[in-house]
Amino acid sequence: MLRDLFIGLSENQLLNRAARNYGLQLGAQQVVAGTNITEMMDSVKELNQAGIACTIDNLGEFVYDKSEAIRAKEQILAVVKAIHEQQADAHISLKPSQLGLDIDYEFCREQIKEIAEKASRDDIFVNLDMENYPRLEPTFRLVNELSEEGYTNIGTVIQAYFHRALKDTRAYRDMRMRLVKGAYKESPAVAYQKKQEIDENFIRIIEWHLLHGKFTSIATHDDRIIDHVKRFAAEHDIERDQFEFQMLYGFRKDLQLALAKEGYRFCTYVPFGEDWYGYFMRRLAERPQNMNLMVKQVFNK
Ligand code: FAD
Repeated sequence: MLRDLFIGLSENQLLNRAARNYGLQLGAQQVVAGTNITEMMDSVKELNQAGIACTIDNLGEFVYDKSEAIRAKEQILAVVKAIHEQQADAHISLKPSQLGLDIDYEFCREQIKEIAEKASRDDIFVNLDMENYPRLEPTFRLVNELSEEGYTNIGTVIQAYFHRALKDTRAYRDMRMRLVKGAYKESPAVAYQKKQEIDENFIRIIEWHLLHGKFTSIATHDDRIIDHVKRFAAEHDIERDQFEFQMLYGFRKDLQLALAKEGYRFCTYVPFGEDWYGYFMRRLAERPQNMNLMVKQVFNK
C-alpha cells in the first residue's frame, strides 16, 4: 500500500516540477549529493579518498520537452568534463527518459551517442539505468545500436523481478552489467511480485553473470545477498576485480566503507540535481523505514 502510494507520488509531474523550486527538502539532502556539480564533486572526492568509485546520476526523468532533454544532455556533458578534469574515479549513470526516449527514439539515441562519444574519449563508462517495463525494449535497443556502432563504454541494468531477467543476462554477457532487484511497480504478467521469488531470481542472475559475464555490478543493500556473493565468489575462484558492489549514496554508509576496506571493489551511486523528488519518493517506496529521514528532517527545523 505504502509502496504504491510513494511510487504514485514519484510519478506526479506537478509535484516533480514544484519540488524543483524548493531545493532539497524533506530529508532528501541525506540521499542526494547536492543540487549542483560543485557540491556533487565534493562528495565524489570524499568517497574516492575512501577507496570508493562513484557512478553519477544527474537527476531527471519523464522529460516530454525537447529543450529540457537537450538541457539534461548538456548537464551530463558538464559532469563528464568535471570527472575528466578532476581525474575522479567515477562514471555516468543516465536515464533514457531524461534524454528524450518518450519524445522521439532517434533524437534520444543521438543525444546518448553524443554523451557516449565524449565519455569514450576520456575513457569514462556510461550506464543506461533501466526504467519501467515499457522502456525496457527501447533501452536494450539503444544499448545494442550504440554497441554496434563501436561504443564499448556503455552498459545497462538487469532487473531481477522480470521473468525474462535470466534470458537478458545471458544475452548481455559481454557487456558490463548492473544487476538489481527492480524499483518500479510492474504487472504480474511480466514480473515476480513476491520478495522471495525476486530474491531467488536475483541470486540466479548474479551467479550466472559472475561465472560467465564480463564485469558484474551487484547493486543491493541486502546483507543476505552480499554475504552470498562473497561466499560464491570465494568458492568459485572469481577474482575480486571481476565484480563490484554498488549502493546508493547515503544508504548503509558504514557497510559501504567496510566492504571497500575488506578489499572488495565498491561503487556508490551518487544522484544530484534539482530533480530530486521522483528519486527520493522511490527510495521511500522501497523502504518505508526511510520515512525516518523525512520525519526527523521535518521536526528538526
Ligand atoms: P531490499 O529488498 O530493499 O532490502 C532487502 C534487505 O536489505 C532489507 O530487508 C534489509 O535487511 C536490508 N536493507 C535494505 N536497505 C537497507 C538500509 N537502507 N539500511 C539497512 N538495511 C537495509 N532499480 C531499477 O529498477 N533500475 C535501476 O537502474 C536501478 N539502479 C540501481 C543502482 C543502485 C546502485 C542501487 C543500489 C539500486 C538500483 N536500483 C535500480 C534499485 C533496486 O532495483 C532496488 O529497488 C533497491 O536497491 C532496493 O533493493 P535492495 O536489493 O537494496 O534490497
